Amino acid sequence: MRDVFADLVLGGSCVGCERPGRPLCRGCASGLPAAAHPAWPSPTPAGLVVPWSAAAYEGVVRSMVVAHKEHRVLALRRPLARLLATGVAAVATRGVPVILVPVPSRPGSARARGHDPTGALTGEAARLLRRQGYDARRARLLVSRGAVVDQAGLDATARAVNLAGSMFCPTNRLRRIAGRPAHVVVCDDVLTTGATAREAQRALETVGLHVAGIATAAATRRRSPPRSAGRECWGPPLSSGLDTK
Ligand SMILES: [Zn+2]
Repeated sequence: MRDVFADLVLGGSCVGCERPGRPLCRGCASGLPAAAHPAWPSPTPAGLVVPWSAAAYEGVVRSMVVAHKEHRVLALRRPLARLLATGVAAVATRGVPVILVPVPSRPGSARARGHDPTGALTGEAARLLRRQGYDARRARLLVSRGAVVDQAGLDATARAVNLAGSMFCPTNRLRRIAGRPAHVVVCDDVLTTGATAREAQRALETVGLHVAGIATAAATRRRSPPRSAGRECWGPPLSSGLDTK
C-alpha cells in the first residue's frame, strides 16, 4: 500500500538515485549515517542546547525529507526516523525515561499536507528506540499559536523574530508527563537556523522542563561569513563549547 502510493507520486523509483523500485533502494539506504554529531547552526541562537543530527541536509537525505514531508511517501518514514533516533540516542541514557517532543506544525499546515510529518517521524523514532531498550516515548507537548508566517526565505534573525513566543505547552498536556523525571528532547526533521528548535526549547523551559538536547534527522550546513571563509559549522564546534555527551 505504501509503495503503491510512492509509485503514484514518484513513478516507483529511489528518491536518491532514481533507480526503479522502492522509494529508497538498498544501496542508498546502506549509505545513510549511523551516528549523530553536534550540528551547531551559525550563528547559533543564544542558549540553544546541543543540536544532534545524523546527516547533512543534502543529496539522498534531502530528497527523503522532501518526499516524506511534501509528497507523503510514508515508506521513507522509518529510515528518516532511524536518523532522528540516533540523535535522540546521543542525548538519552538507558534506564532514564526519554521524552521526544516534536516541534509542532503550524495550524493549517498539517491539515493542508494531510499529515503531520514531524509528529509521525518522532513517534516512529520513539518506537525504534524502545526496540533498542530505551524507555522512550513521544509526547506532543507543544502547540503552535499560528501567528507565524512561513519560515522559508527568512534569515536567522527574521526567523527568530517570527517565532518568538509562537509555541506554548498547555497545562493538560504537561500533566501527561507530570511526576516522571525524564530527559526531554526536542525533535524535528531538519535543523536550519536553529530558531524553531530554540523556540520549542524556550516554551518547554517556561513550564519548568529541562531540555536535554535537540535531535533532528538532518541539518543544513551553515557557512560563516566570508571573513572566516571555509569554516563550516558541521560536526563538533571548532573552537570552544565542545560537548562530550
Ligand atoms: Zn537509490
